Amino acid sequence: MKILGIEHIGVAVHSIDERAAFWEYVLKINRTATETVADQGVSTAIFDTGKGKIELLEAIDSDSPIAKYIAKRGPGIHHICLEVDDISSAIKELTENGISVINETPSVGVEGYFITFIHPRSTGGVLVLVELAQKQKP
Ligand code: ZN
Repeated sequence: MKILGIEHIGVAVHSIDERAAFWEYVLKINRTATETVADQGVSTAIFDTGKGKIELLEAIDSDSPIAKYIAKRGPGIHHICLEVDDISSAIKELTENGISVINETPSVGVEGYFITFIHPRSTGGVLVLVELAQKQKP
């Protein structure tokens, strides 16, 4: 497993429409994607600084993990995403070392990345989820 860098920071918000202006117009960060990931119950907006992205996450139904997160803790940083070179080998290496991942088969996230999350019980002092993502090869 090779970590290539911080891909993005996921921020849970009540409303992308209400929060996007800060990132887009106050900080002037390019909004590069707006996408719904139905199987995760979220709508997302991506702001690309050129060295790491900010991903705003809004629940599209009350059962989604983001809805539950906001109900419990309020809006805020939900996860840190690390880019990996090969997500299948990363998952294999982690699980062989007793680290739990949420998707043992990577799912497809925003921008077509193959993703999984490391289970919070395995990340100790890190109070946010850690996501791993592999860019699809063209
Ligand atoms: Zn993410």
